[in-house]
Amino acid sequence: MRCRKDKKIDKILPYLLILNGNDASSLKKETRLKFEKLIICLMKIKYNIRYCSSKFCKCHPETIINELLIDDKLSNFLNKNNHGEFGFSVEVKNALEVIKSVIKESDESITIYDD
Ligand SMILES: [Zn+2]
Repeated sequence: MRCRKDKKIDKILPYLLILNGNDASSLKKETRLKFEKLIICLMKIKYNIRYCSSKFCKCHPETIINELLIDDKLSNFLNKNNHGEFGFSVEVKNALEVIKSVIKESDESITIYDD
């Protein structure tokens, strides 16, 4: 069953992929690599790719994204990309807010694969 969080990820991922190789090219390499890691972590949340079953473990993509967003250069980049072109809805106009709400919902509803 698909939840709200997955719908948000489905909306934000194409947007981030458009920024990647476009607006993101203006970022310094270190920040650009963090941006790419953020995209990968969002996909891991979407497909529930996890390596351990402890909640809030540092190996979880949610934890990694939270660490990435501490970087002002990355969070400012996500925050300033508010343009509504490409036909993206209001929901993805602020990428940073969408990502933060995905993390919040995901943390609350982590499901771990049974062994
Ligand atoms: Zn872990």
